[in-house]
Amino acid sequence: MSQTTNGGHPKGLWVLFGTEMWERFNFYGMRAILSLFLAEALLMGKQEASIIYGGFLGLCYLTPMLGGYISDKYLGNRNCILLGGTMMGVGQLLLFFSGSLFNTDIDLATNVMWLALLAIVLGNGFFKPNISSMVGSLYPKEQKNKLDSAFTIFYLGINVGATLGQFICPFFGDKETADGIRDLTVFRWGFLAAAIAMFTGTITFLILKNRYVVTPQGEAIGGKPKKSDIPENESDSAKFSMSSITISSLLLIVITYGFHMVFDGPGVSWIKAWLYPFILASGISLGYLIMSDKTLTKIERDRIWVLYIVCFFVMFFWGAFEQAGSSLTFIADNQTDTNILGWTMPPSMVQNFNGIFVMVFAIPFSLLWTWMNRKRLEPISPVKQAWGLLLIALGYWIIASQVKGLGISGKVGIIWMIILYMMHTWGELCLSPIGLSLVAKLAPRRFASLLMGVWFLGNAGGYVLTGVLGALLPPTTEAYVNMEKVNINLKSLLDGDTQPTGTELYTLAKNKIATTVDYDKGLENNLDFVKIFKAKDSVLTEPQLQLIAQEKIITVSYPKFVGFTLRTLYDFFMLFVVLCGAAGLVLYALSPFMKRMMHGVR
Ligand code: GLN
Repeated sequence: MSQTTNGGHPKGLWVLFGTEMWERFNFYGMRAILSLFLAEALLMGKQEASIIYGGFLGLCYLTPMLGGYISDKYLGNRNCILLGGTMMGVGQLLLFFSGSLFNTDIDLATNVMWLALLAIVLGNGFFKPNISSMVGSLYPKEQKNKLDSAFTIFYLGINVGATLGQFICPFFGDKETADGIRDLTVFRWGFLAAAIAMFTGTITFLILKNRYVVTPQGEAIGGKPKKSDIPENESDSAKFSMSSITISSLLLIVITYGFHMVFDGPGVSWIKAWLYPFILASGISLGYLIMSDKTLTKIERDRIWVLYIVCFFVMFFWGAFEQAGSSLTFIADNQTDTNILGWTMPPSMVQNFNGIFVMVFAIPFSLLWTWMNRKRLEPISPVKQAWGLLLIALGYWIIASQVKGLGISGKVGIIWMIILYMMHTWGELCLSPIGLSLVAKLAPRRFASLLMGVWFLGNAGGYVLTGVLGALLPPTTEAYVNMEKVNINLKSLLDGDTQPTGTELYTLAKNKIATTVDYDKGLENNLDFVKIFKAKDSVLTEPQLQLIAQEKIITVSYPKFVGFTLRTLYDFFMLFVVLCGAAGLVLYALSPFMKRMMHGVR
């Protein structure tokens, strides 16, 4: 190659590295402060913020299907990256506006926020699959052996960006006022920093692409698809019969509705009621569509089944892992002593330890696999992924044992959060890069991008779980403390020792503390709960509050999950220990069968 650097990698890799670095800066930097912004500035509360956060991440991993398709068919990688980058940058600017508006017009700020998230979701769909597949296209066939190291470098780029973003955005966007409470007006500076990062990445790519992201002959890589790019060989492209397309569309509708019945209930937002079911159903119906192809051989079918099984289990991993941006940030905010050598770290910055640990451990882990391979000890990919699940369970178990005696007002030391993130990162390194290359190895060529889509949909399903589980965070210290200020003992109310009095219900309503709302009763009394629980106190009229109190429209209760009540942080963490631990053990037990079904692939 003419365009190579000393290390033997094409210079184009560094352009992609830089572009992806800025993009992940924008994405993770914003993610760090998003939940706090939703919960506190837009007054949505922690529960709803967690639900939106999960839905947002889920959609970010659903849209790559669309972005990949449009790129292959019409626009090409380069254009999609530019388009996606611009859209995300605009989305961040919209968040900046939302963060500037919220204290003058909260309804407008909320609408602008929705628009912003939509722009980011679509932008990410154009950007993410295309930048990753361009890494592969940089290497001609005879250099494919460099791919593993190329992807390790690329994964490092991702995390250099994530680390910078999760430092800079909280640095400007998560501050306290002189009174020691959060300054809600500075979130916007974090979003602005993310916007600047995204535009920097997009412009860098625009300027450098023609010089460096080219073949040795100087031809553009990732340009618009040409007729000649479409393989003549029939088996090189997937073709589905009309009947399988019809059946899978029907499946999409039926399964969406089925999950809707499970998730829906009083007070459930449209995100949980419809978006979550749609994301889960998309994965399943796409899975069906691929399997319905008659040209698949027995071996190909077996291998695809392995992928599906892996996708199912990694959902639990992402469900636990991505708590970083929601419940774990809330815990860092309310129940963690974030003092490091005399400096108080902004709570939203704590998740940054993940990116830092990836930078530290990515190369040691890839060396570990090489070493184990040489000693003939390297496990097959599903076993590594089972380890990933067990490691994340271990991380939660360690911190669970620390919070056990914490009581309701104690705080856990930041060191335990750091250890948790280290375990999570080790788990990630056993599972995430491995997953990408497993897809590449197991997928029949003609289904390569669709099955990459299935992998991402598995991630998306995991984010649905992120939202569902994150919303189960039991009331935190600050809820108890706030209630104490107005003479309510929230603990005894929650424990059911006492019935809430009218005044107590009134105060709970006013402070939006209660976790269950009797919507039907409220609606009978002409109360618009969505408004009440979103709006500032001033929007609630006195008679409305009195009504809530008299009618006992609010019931006070702890979050529940499949019959279990979660009372403390310990219970909450143990939920992840049990889910991920069980998933890891079952996957491990299945691995000998999966090994057979992989037919020689590791
Ligand atoms: N952190 C990685 C990235 O941003 C992986 C995320 C994922 O696959 N869910 O690309």
